Amino acid sequence: MDDGARDVFAGTLAELTWHEVDAAARSGAVLLWAFGVIEQHGPHLPTGTDVYLPAARLRAVRALLAERGVQALIVPPYYWGVNVVSGAFPASYGVRPESMREVMVDLLAGMARDGFRHVFCFSGHGDALHNRTVHDGVRAACERTDADASFVTEPALARRIGLEADDPYLTLYGPDEGPPDGPVDVHAGSWETSLMMHTHPRLVREEVRARLEPSGLGPGELAIWRQGHEHARRVTPAGYLGDPAAADAAEGHRIQTAAAEQAAQAIMLRLRRDTHRLRRSASAHPQTGRRNHG
Ligand SMILES: [Zn+2]
Repeated sequence: MDDGARDVFAGTLAELTWHEVDAAARSGAVLLWAFGVIEQHGPHLPTGTDVYLPAARLRAVRALLAERGVQALIVPPYYWGVNVVSGAFPASYGVRPESMREVMVDLLAGMARDGFRHVFCFSGHGDALHNRTVHDGVRAACERTDADASFVTEPALARRIGLEADDPYLTLYGPDEGPPDGPVDVHAGSWETSLMMHTHPRLVREEVRARLEPSGLGPGELAIWRQGHEHARRVTPAGYLGDPAAADAAEGHRIQTAAAEQAAQAIMLRLRRDTHRLRRSASAHPQTGRRNHG
């Protein structure tokens, strides 16, 4: 069970002193960072859902990494993301992709300057342009700094936004599966509501949720919905796409546990590969050593 923290600084490096952050960087700690958005999530979930959920996931991932001997600090979540799909709904805010990318580059440069080599960036928001922007910010920061940042995501999402599986700025986790059969459930539906019932049950409007009809839409309507703004508002006037009444906290627990474990495994794999790469690079370039890579 997650601790259900609603304070977005809870458990992040914002609660540490600079001495503590500095010591963590020097001892090789990695950073975990979530990128969400403030966005409508139907009549039953809070607008911060895409921030609360990845924040909870990062706390679970951090615990799993600690079991494997890797110290991780969590960066306070970034929550002014890019919003195309829900852009026409109230309480749904977004910034231009180039604004988000440049903020990411500035902050990732600061983290690299502190000596954090690895930054693992997660997304809590399914919007294609938002996720392309997370990847773009990671890539731009790696090109301009010494950092090894990456976008940690599932193969299906990477494919949807046009990235190759071997993209150097991706850390892929979880099975590579196509869309599930049956009605589409992608926004404030059964899976996302199940997760919130597990991690933040007191923020779910239970009375409302239990009475919501399934949206019952298929891939055709999903394609229209993804065009965003007025298209999305017309296809899903209530703001959810899926079946919130079918949600269940135990299912949320199962999804969260599996995803956190898969993400921790993927991070461990990238860290091992990077160690090998640095060793090879150091023996090939003994003068420049550690800083001479990619
Ligand atoms: Zn969401």
